[in-house]
Amino acid sequence: MAREGNLEAPTRHPLAWTEANFWDETRLESELERVFNICHGCRRCVSLCNAFPTLFDLIDNSSTLEIDGVAKTDYAKVVEHCYLCDLCYQTKCPYVPPHQWNVDFPHLMLRAKAVHFKRHGVPLKAKILSSTTTVGRMASIPVVAEVVNAVNASGVGRKLLDKTLGVHPDAMVPAYHSRTARKRLRHAKAEGTATPAGRTHGKVAIFATCYCDVSLPQVVDDLHAVLIHNGIPTRMVMQEVCCGMPKLELGDLDSVRAYKERNIPVLAALAREGF
Ligand code: SF4
Ligand code: SF4
Repeated sequence: MAREGNLEAPTRHPLAWTEANFWDETRLESELERVFNICHGCRRCVSLCNAFPTLFDLIDNSSTLEIDGVAKTDYAKVVEHCYLCDLCYQTKCPYVPPHQWNVDFPHLMLRAKAVHFKRHGVPLKAKILSSTTTVGRMASIPVVAEVVNAVNASGVGRKLLDKTLGVHPDAMVPAYHSRTARKRLRHAKAEGTATPAGRTHGKVAIFATCYCDVSLPQVVDDLHAVLIHNGIPTRMVMQEVCCGMPKLELGDLDSVRAYKERNIPVLAALAREGF
């Protein structure tokens, strides 16, 4: 029997999304009930995000003060608040595998999101906002970027954004840059002699991410400058697409797989070159 909490890394089981049981709504519901009940008895994660307070409020406001007093239709309210940061699994939970209770809260939330996505889909606005590669490419075209930034900075533009894409008028929205990180650093060739350090070969290929590429290119520029200053051969990953996180948060696993199939060969080739 595994001990409750220890200093060993948890065992993470792969998401079983290719198995039929994964998509079975009755099984999902009973697994949600099982894990929610364990969390109710534990409550360590109450401060991590809004998923746990939502769950505990549902239980505390129910007629039985237990998980059986919560309507199953309300489980989605908990799932909605999880943004899959993995903090509860990685840092807090003493019941992760190999513990026999086998609690993997983020994977369970992801499963619930995936089942919901498959059954109900998501609104067009969620699809647009999560298509960060496409949106970033379009919004970072010279002149278009300036127009988009001006509209996003105006009261009228923010009202429009609220009405069309559901972006709250007070929410921070990123600026777009036409001089993207990949444009700025396309000539970076990772020249020089790499000095292996530990298990690494001492060479770096930067996976910029959509956000840093088009909205925070200075961060990538700075990172590159620091690495070069320290004698570390550095280049960009030039053919990357979205890492898939926005689609993962929607439970759109097919899109995540499509991105993975484009990114992994590029990254694997770089890894074989010693990056
Ligand atoms: S993985 Fe989800 S439930 Fe866990 S801390 Fe992050 S947001 Fe909260
Ligand atoms: S995820 Fe684990 S640590 Fe967090 S409330 Fe649930 S049982 Fe407790």
